[in-house]
Amino acid sequence: MYGVPVNEPNRRPIDELVLTILSQHTNDRNSGRAFKLLRERFPTWDEVRDAPVAEVEDAIRPGGLAQQKAPRIQAILRELGPEPSLDWTEDAPIEESREYLLSLPGVGRKTAACVLIFSWGLPEIPVDVHIHRVGGRLGLFPAKASLERAHDEMLAIVPPEDAYELHVNLIRHGRTLCRPKPRCGGCELRRMCPWYRDLDNQELIAG
Ligand code: SF4
Repeated sequence: MYGVPVNEPNRRPIDELVLTILSQHTNDRNSGRAFKLLRERFPTWDEVRDAPVAEVEDAIRPGGLAQQKAPRIQAILRELGPEPSLDWTEDAPIEESREYLLSLPGVGRKTAACVLIFSWGLPEIPVDVHIHRVGGRLGLFPAKASLERAHDEMLAIVPPEDAYELHVNLIRHGRTLCRPKPRCGGCELRRMCPWYRDLDNQELIAG
């Protein structure tokens, strides 16, 4: 239905981490703008870490929640040591990298997964609101599973080489057809969809 997307890892894990923090509770356009302004004002991560928090806040304001995100970003950068780097996560065992990322202030499972899959192409599936809704309806995990459990269950059932494709295409599906009010009439997955078969849900279906 959506083709096979190709992952082109950016090889910049700190950039990915900061961008993901900036993307919390806003859209890609605003977070991208905040990230660009931050990098223009402070070309290195040391400079972001050592700047007065008010200046970082000012730079990332277009991304929203700047008062919370600025100190969080600086706290993470302080944790990364005198010369901030996450380059070792390319070759480390993925469990070790995931655990380390989760130990950083304000970093949750989705953020850690974004860093690993988008920086290095490692097999991770960040579970966002679309994946949680679509995966729950399709029975990939229980519909009311916590995000944590949804991550675990997705990783358990997906062959590593298919992780990126599934991640991207579940989001596409959630944005186009399997929306909060789903358009099941045009969905090729009806035949295998437990949610569609559940008659109690029929009044929510758009067509
Ligand atoms: S049949 Fe409906 S609920 Fe099931 S995956 Fe397709 S759009 Fe979503």
